[in-house]
Amino acid sequence: MTVARFWREIPQRYNLVGTKCETCGAVFFPPRTLCPHCRRDGKIVPCKFSGKGKVMTYSVIHSASDQYFDLKPYVLAIIELEEGTRVTSHVICEPDDVYIGMPVKSVFRVLDCDGPDGVIHYGTKFTSDV
Ligand SMILES: [Zn+2]
Repeated sequence: MTVARFWREIPQRYNLVGTKCETCGAVFFPPRTLCPHCRRDGKIVPCKFSGKGKVMTYSVIHSASDQYFDLKPYVLAIIELEEGTRVTSHVICEPDDVYIGMPVKSVFRVLDCDGPDGVIHYGTKFTSDV
């Protein structure tokens, strides 16, 4: 089993976790500790997101920085999650295949690798959920 596959099979560690204001129901990702609507009256609790959402808008990136060189062109999108909050993320698909409103789901992937024996960063990306 590869290392990447090993990590992907521990989903609870890598689900999208943000926060939620129980007072007004607003959800936050990345997590916030203060509700901008309720301020000190807001009761903030952890919130696990389903990871399902849809593409609100996107860009196809043709000139990537060195660490993403192998990925270009790639799709960077603003995704609205089912819970109502938005996240900017890489979408794994052909640039011609992405469209506004495309259903997507979060997946766990290697984000980048700092050199041959360097640190490997893992994180959330999105793929088509059609
Ligand atoms: Zn609130």
